[in-house]
Order: sequence, then structure tokens, then C-alpha cells
Amino acid sequence: MVLGKNVVIYDLDDTLYNKTSEFAEILDTTMAEALVYDLGLKMDINEAKDLVTLSYKIYRDGGEIFYRDYGIKPQDLFIAYHKRKPVEKIVPYNNLLEKIKKVDAEQYIFTASDRYASEKILKHLGLYEFFKDRYYSVEDFGVFKKNESTDVYYEYCKKINVDPKDCVFVDDSYSNLEFAKETGMTTVRIYYKNNSAKDKTYIDYAYKGIESFLDNVIG
Ligand SMILES: [Mg+2]
Repeated sequence: MVLGKNVVIYDLDDTLYNKTSEFAEILDTTMAEALVYDLGLKMDINEAKDLVTLSYKIYRDGGEIFYRDYGIKPQDLFIAYHKRKPVEKIVPYNNLLEKIKKVDAEQYIFTASDRYASEKILKHLGLYEFFKDRYYSVEDFGVFKKNESTDVYYEYCKKINVDPKDCVFVDDSYSNLEFAKETGMTTVRIYYKNNSAKDKTYIDYAYKGIESFLDNVIG
């Protein structure tokens, strides 16, 4: 059992690896390239990148400004961005798989990356074999985000045939934890610099990095 539950569901990006500020920078450029080169946005790359960064700041979603003001379709950006995602630049944790193998619970992944990118990321992190039949993308549920309603969490649980009340949900993005909590899951937030969401009542536990969570639950 983990925190009294027998199922753990992890977010992937920025949870099972740490997005450094350098990597965040690269990802903003990647999104700008997808917008300009793949989706024909008439804008200079640097200008597009600045808007991506601004969009993250305002909406916690790099594409939102482009959906609202530039006629970009969320689905088109979702696909183009993930095709370009520079997965090889992610720095994996050492011994993460060994730790995950010691966790006394069924373990799954629920990611907002698409299936194409999440497979590449899992392979890069050395976690693909372990999670091969136990990872799902928002794409599998016909959505692009995990923070819009409880529906996707109920559907996820139906897919893996468990009750939300038996699950621990682990995510770095606290907006995802709100709906997970509403379904009855126990929520764990992974933070890096400081625990900025202490005031959020829907967060049950917070750990600095996934390794401290794993070290704690495997004792
Ligand atoms: Mg994340």
C-alpha cells in the first residue's frame, strides 16, 4: 500500500523527470517552431517564442494565446508540438526504475503528452518496459488536458478497472490535482523550488521531487 491506497497513477512530464529551466526554454522554442514552421503562423520565431512564454505565465498553457487570438486549433498544435519535442535532451534520474519496482502498489501513468511523445520519453527514461501496458495519454480519452473536469479521471479509472478511492494521483501541476481529488483520489504534488501550493486544500501531500516521494513510500 502507498498512503493507504493500492494504486498509484503518475503524471509523466515534470513528474517522472525534472524540467530544468534550460529545458523549459527549449520547449518554448519548440512550440514556437511548431506554430511557425508546421502550422503556418505568420510570425518571427523569437516573437512567437515570447508569446508562448507569456501564454504559460498567464494561462499555464503555452498555446492558449494562439487559440484565442491567432486561429490555431488546439489539436493541431498538440500534434505538431509533440512531434518536435526534443526528448533526447531530458536528463533522466538515476535508479528511478529500481525505486519504482519497489513500490508496493499497482502503478500507472496518465500523461498530457501524446502517445507518440510519451512512448519516446518513457524509452528515454528507461521506464518503457515497466509501463508499456500501463500508460495512457489524454489523447486516449479524446481531450488535450487533464485539468478541465473530473470526467477524464473517472474514465481513466474505468479503463484500468479501479475505484478512484483506491488511487493516489501524483502530479507536479496542481491544477490537475483538483479534479483528481474531486473523484476521491488521494493527491500528491511534486514540487521543485518551493512548495508554492501549500494553501490548496485539494492537495493531500507534497514532496520535493519524485525521488523523495519514492524514498518515502518504499521506506
Ligand atoms: Mg506534469
